[in-house]
Amino acid sequence: RGKLVITGFGIQLGRHLTRRVESELDKADVVLAMMDDFSLTWLKGKYPALIDLSLLYGKDGEKDRRQTYREMELAILEPLRAGKNVCAIFYGHPGVFADVPHAAIKQAREEGYEAIMEPAISADACLYADLGLDPGMSGLQSYEATQFLVYQRPLDPSALVVLWQIGVVGDLTCTQFHTYSDRVQALVTKLLRWYEPEHEVILYEAAVLPIEGHREERLPLSELPNASFKTITTLVIPPKLEWLADHEALASLGVTEDALL
Ligand code: SAM
Repeated sequence: RGKLVITGFGIQLGRHLTRRVESELDKADVVLAMMDDFSLTWLKGKYPALIDLSLLYGKDGEKDRRQTYREMELAILEPLRAGKNVCAIFYGHPGVFADVPHAAIKQAREEGYEAIMEPAISADACLYADLGLDPGMSGLQSYEATQFLVYQRPLDPSALVVLWQIGVVGDLTCTQFHTYSDRVQALVTKLLRWYEPEHEVILYEAAVLPIEGHREERLPLSELPNASFKTITTLVIPPKLEWLADHEALASLGVTEDALL
């Protein structure tokens, strides 16, 4: 009976691959991968029979990503059902802002197969290192940008805020690989409920190739619609450090605000 292992490639080509992941890849009968072209070519050097899941994406504007995700899930489950040991490797951490790995593992388990996920280095793990921002300093709020835009989600500006998939923000058709400045403006308009227009935000892209540096473009929130975005861009909003003491809670500890210095 086959076993399913879903692993991560990390963000930077070749450098984030763990020994554990390499050993799972070596044991697999079938290896499937979802990552950028450079990383895929590199990994194909080690596993020539590797199946490229990214081929299931349609052209920009043509195919619903939710359909692509169901096809990827099927591509992973078919060899498992045929009795093979399957290893699927996704860029970054396979369980972070990634629909297919969670769905495939759930389905495989429901069908009685052993299925595990191995953690890996995600884009936000790189972000904390590259930008020197510790989520423990202020707390962290992390949202998918479009979900944050179209639903009434609370936002705590006193925490570090990370908005994923800003590069496709506002695309409710789930078919596009780019965004438009009016959609980014809609996001900015919403964020102005909590921030001043001049609040500094950061467009962040972790380096994928070891020879490149990361992108760290700092700009006022109001300038965001004029910026350029890639599908890998993440929006980082540093915290407003205007925290108010909770006097009731302090009193229950038997202290006053002076104890916070
Ligand atoms: N599973 C991935 C991970 O562990 O980082 C995240 C996949 S999610 C579908 C895609 C989003 O992740 C992008 O829109 C962006 O917000 C973020 N992302 C992916 N690669 C990135 C990179 N090199 N630098 C910064 N953010 C990145």
